[in-house]
Amino acid sequence: MASISKNGIDLRAGGKRGARRILVTGGAGFLGSHLCDLLLAQDHEVISLDNYFTGSARNLELSSESPRFRAIAHDITVPIPEELPRFDEIYNLACPASPVHYQMDPLKTALTSAGGVWNVMARARRDNAGIFHASTSEVYGDPTVHPQSEGYHGNVNPIGPRACYDEGKRFAETILSDFTRSTGLPVRIARIFNTYGPRMHPEDGRVVSNFIVQALLGRDLTIYGSGRQTRSFCFMDDLIAGFDALMHAPGATAEPVNLGNPHEVTVLELAEMVLDMVGGRSRILRLPLPVDDPQRRRPDISRAKNILGWKPRVPLDEGLAATIRYFDRRLAEEQARPRKRVAAAVAPPFAAVI
Ligand code: NAD
Ligand code: UDP
Repeated sequence: MASISKNGIDLRAGGKRGARRILVTGGAGFLGSHLCDLLLAQDHEVISLDNYFTGSARNLELSSESPRFRAIAHDITVPIPEELPRFDEIYNLACPASPVHYQMDPLKTALTSAGGVWNVMARARRDNAGIFHASTSEVYGDPTVHPQSEGYHGNVNPIGPRACYDEGKRFAETILSDFTRSTGLPVRIARIFNTYGPRMHPEDGRVVSNFIVQALLGRDLTIYGSGRQTRSFCFMDDLIAGFDALMHAPGATAEPVNLGNPHEVTVLELAEMVLDMVGGRSRILRLPLPVDDPQRRRPDISRAKNILGWKPRVPLDEGLAATIRYFDRRLAEEQARPRKRVAAAVAPPFAAVI
């Protein structure tokens, strides 16, 4: 781990009045990096801990312009370094979110969700810090109730290929709930539904980035199964505003809160939208449906509306247009230099241990 004072700011000193020192795990990822940008814009000090499995330093270019920001390479399955200064708040986002990546080393994913959260809780207890945890709509599994409200307990296959993530996130919710009951420290749990936008990795593997990159490169769009399965896609700006509201709304509690956009579309409809917007000659390529792929998903966001006064504002066509512009620029940049494969970026340490 790098020294904490190399950048010339004493991170142990107190921040401005009202400014807090905040730890973001998974800060180099798609959502984590946007969160770091927001927290820095709010005048806080921010430290990102990330093992760069799916994240990248590139996502942190804007944050890195701030003298109040530090990015440290660290795996949260290992206790958070003692020598780091006291944190007021910890946002725990570290965990691969794309099925392709979280299934690459399932034991590591399970350990990140369970052991990683354990380490976050240990640090929060030491620092008397509040915790924000990025949970997921995957806690509902392949839901038998539609739309999904927080009172629904889900339908998860505990031994399937998605279980490392789904059950890992469920277990994290369990221990965080026990933690807040036993310590009284504030915990906020966001159950995030499919979110997309700039800074997703071109090889992330999730459906929005796959379709856009495929269309921009003139490749066929890969639809898994019939394409009649549904998802409800939220633009990242809306989601990050929801994080902020959930962490600070006076009425918020440790009860999980769904954050997502209730506008539900089939995967086939999404493919057609992307094809219309990008143009070109791509067609639809049908591939097998992955095991345990949820058939329907739409958030009931009543709780977020009532407690936080939050709702998403960016319509799907607008968010897709912004995301297409991002990938268009990014692919053009990457064509100008050799591309690295994200999967080769970090060797998963747990695989080596076991
Ligand atoms: P992402 O893969 O872009 O970001 C995850 C980040 O965590 C990456 O930077 C990765 O390198 C880092 N990471 C993974 N394992 C780690 C470990 N053991 N130690 C330290 N860092 C580690 O994914 P994202 O979409 O930004 O997701 C962020 C969080 O939000 C995740 O916890 C995810 O489960 C949750 N979430 C996201 C969505 C979504 O649609 N984007 C939906 C539901 C939940
Ligand atoms: N999907 C698809 N083609 C792709 C990637 C995903 O048809 O190239 C489907 C996938 O089977 C699922 C939906 O799109 O039904 C959303 O998949 P994603 O991996 O984005 O997220 P999750 O399944 O975790 O909601």
